[in-house]
Amino acid sequence: MPDRSLIDLGYLVASGLFIVGIKGLTHPRTAVRGNRLGALGMLVAIIVTLLDREILTAEPQSWMLLGVGLIVGATTGATLALKVQMTAMPQMVALLNGFGGGASVLVAGAAFLDTDPALVTARIASATVASAIIGAVTFWGSLVAFDKLQEWLLPGRPVQVPGGQITSMVLLAVALVLGSVIVRDPQATWAYVALVGVASVLGVTVTLPIGGADMPVAVALLNSYSGLAGAATGFVLNNNVLIIAGTLVGASGFILTQIMCRAMNRSLANVLTGAIAAGSAASEDDVYGGRVKSTSAEEVAMLFDAARRVVIVPGYGLAVSQAQHAVRDLVALLEARGVNVEFAIHPVAGRMPGHMNVLLAEADISYDKLKEMDEINPTFEQTDVVLVVGANDVVNPLARTDPKSPIAGMPILDVDKARTVVVVKRSLSPGFAGIPNPLFAADNTLMLFQDAKKALTELATAVKEAA
Ligand code: NDP
Repeated sequence: MPDRSLIDLGYLVASGLFIVGIKGLTHPRTAVRGNRLGALGMLVAIIVTLLDREILTAEPQSWMLLGVGLIVGATTGATLALKVQMTAMPQMVALLNGFGGGASVLVAGAAFLDTDPALVTARIASATVASAIIGAVTFWGSLVAFDKLQEWLLPGRPVQVPGGQITSMVLLAVALVLGSVIVRDPQATWAYVALVGVASVLGVTVTLPIGGADMPVAVALLNSYSGLAGAATGFVLNNNVLIIAGTLVGASGFILTQIMCRAMNRSLANVLTGAIAAGSAASEDDVYGGRVKSTSAEEVAMLFDAARRVVIVPGYGLAVSQAQHAVRDLVALLEARGVNVEFAIHPVAGRMPGHMNVLLAEADISYDKLKEMDEINPTFEQTDVVLVVGANDVVNPLARTDPKSPIAGMPILDVDKARTVVVVKRSLSPGFAGIPNPLFAADNTLMLFQDAKKALTELATAVKEAA
């Protein structure tokens, strides 16, 4: 058994690496290094835990089992991470959270059932109960979230469960009663099994009413839960690094959830109850009614020719079309002609926080050109042309004007205040929130109906030809 103080030092180093890693993730410039530091912290934590718990014994089975688990897990994880489309990242994160929650239930449950009930203290029993409830809710909730985003079996829209919120509240009450039985009598294995079953159903009933549009917020919340389940398991195993890492994930997931809710002007309760479905919005005919004007790449190139300042608003469609390199080439051309070009980044553009920043960084677009909503909004009135590429909800003025709209009150990019707005998208289809957008029918808006990548390539050619 290695020296206790060396083991504790190892755990401290791992925890420090997690904290520095998360700090690095707060800025695109340091994000990659932050990610690597976090991964290094996890490696240190695994090695120190193996030594601390003397998991690797001389018996070949222990090496074999770990080796097989490591190969299967690492290969599956790496393959999924390499193959996943950026637009499917919320699904991937949902699965990762779910597996974290599931692992917490299994590990804490195995440790609990394996321990002589006479030695199970109230603290360990309480932590096992917490791990079972939060972990099972996370696992099943994440699977539902994954499926609603992927739309394999479940629809993306909110699905109301019989009895609504009352059913979930009753299930939670039953889980807590079962938990108190376990704390009073750790021999009650039946209560533990029933608790995991009830919490699993609870995970499904709380996630089903959440609409697809709100699912990324639910995924961030489930991420927070997976951390809390891990921290509870840390108490069961008396493992400090698991407690620290779990708490960090729990806290950071919750902060992210809050940031996303604020960016959509929604309360967490509103998101969790699927209340967005209750909102009404103006119909497409009311909003568009033959007022939409379409344009061509050549016409937009002429607008650029006369412009001094252009702001580009990237949205989900830019990611779908993988148009980040095409937009960089267009920016280079415009800048070569003396046009001042900046990007307006809405905090919930795309399908996950930071989606647009990551996408544009992939094309080596300088961070200095990316302006956040609060900074760029006052400048739209002095902007000659705003080029909206595959964005919709984040530039929808209904958020300001229609209190019945599902996005009412959501802070938006005020692009309608610019002299001319050019919107690149394939049709008049709605965005994630499923509502029409009066911006497309505004007097100063021109629609360029085209796939984003194709449109940007054509625009670049037209700008060159106009020179
Ligand atoms: P939207 O989902 O509102 O709109 C995207 C638009 O892109 C669609 O209207 C679509 O129109 C267009 N599009 C799709 N494919 C292409 C393509 N190949 N080429 C050109 N256009 C395309 O996107 P936004 O980024 O404006 O808004 C994000 C939404 O996601 C918000 O409602 C936000 O609340 C929600 N959300 C975001 C989260 C985040 O963390 N980022 C989290 C939770 C929710 P068409 O089909 O006509 O081409």
